[in-house]
Amino acid sequence: LELAIGIDIGGTSTKVALVDASGLILEKNSFPSHSSGGAKEYFPNLQKVITGLFKQVKGEFLLVGIGVGAPSCNETTGSIEGAANLPFQEPFPLVKLLEESYSVPVFLTKDSNAALLGESRFGAAKGIYNFILLTLGTGLGTAIMANGRLVKGHSGKAGETGHILVANNHRKCACGKIGCLETYVSAVGLKRTVMALLAEEIIESSLRAYTFDQLEAQLIYHEAIQGDSLAKLAFEVTGKVLGLKLAELITVFEPEAIILAGGMAEAGPLLVEPLRVAMEGALLSFHKNKVRILNTSLATNEAALLGAASLVWDRHQSVALT
Ligand SMILES: [Zn+2]
Repeated sequence: LELAIGIDIGGTSTKVALVDASGLILEKNSFPSHSSGGAKEYFPNLQKVITGLFKQVKGEFLLVGIGVGAPSCNETTGSIEGAANLPFQEPFPLVKLLEESYSVPVFLTKDSNAALLGESRFGAAKGIYNFILLTLGTGLGTAIMANGRLVKGHSGKAGETGHILVANNHRKCACGKIGCLETYVSAVGLKRTVMALLAEEIIESSLRAYTFDQLEAQLIYHEAIQGDSLAKLAFEVTGKVLGLKLAELITVFEPEAIILAGGMAEAGPLLVEPLRVAMEGALLSFHKNKVRILNTSLATNEAALLGAASLVWDRHQSVALT
């Protein structure tokens, strides 16, 4: 049995899976990306989880490689550099560390690009050659496929849609800029919007009982479903901001579909309806009513794991053929 390790490094947790060549996840586990020991503890924690997964596999297997999806990575050096939501302050040589520990080929790509590959091979984007993937998590991850190819850019850093600017937005972003899309369209952005609305609106809301730290996107969603007008308004604001930016991206790339993934995508019509209205209203006439908005068909957060592992299989199979 040949297996690859897929690793998806996120701002909150790092997910690790053992994946076979057909994209089946045999075992998976995760650990918090942040711990008291910071970067020093990170790699030992990762190794512990990998060892645990190896033990769970029944029977013999051969590890053929490791694929990693991570924010702010440098594909050329194999390091993670300056990720806003991660504990690493210096360039973190993850590829080197993994190669030394496991003696297999290691592939590193941007987390959002890994998710795009997973969606394209195994998810809602199967057979779609022009699409934009938005992963609404702690931050906003985005990746673009145009003409059947991942848009990587000159050094692999293209597609940072989370950091294009929103008009009249004065919120500071974790990246250091002011006014980024991610400061609205992300779990943290939604919380910031709730706080702003609580200050601006005179609407009764159960959310007034919470501090910023107590609020969670999941809680805001729950209250919106229960009919809380302010919680619903927070999703409307988020959808509108995103819809207007998507109209601009559609004008440039003319995708067939927009795929939504991540925890907030589960909000469904609460987010998608205001998004669609704002987006359609801002599109050129010949783009109107053409772009489908789809939810990921993969289980929560599996796209990046599968996409990361697929980097191994692509390389492994092409080597086997030559
Ligand atoms: Zn930013």
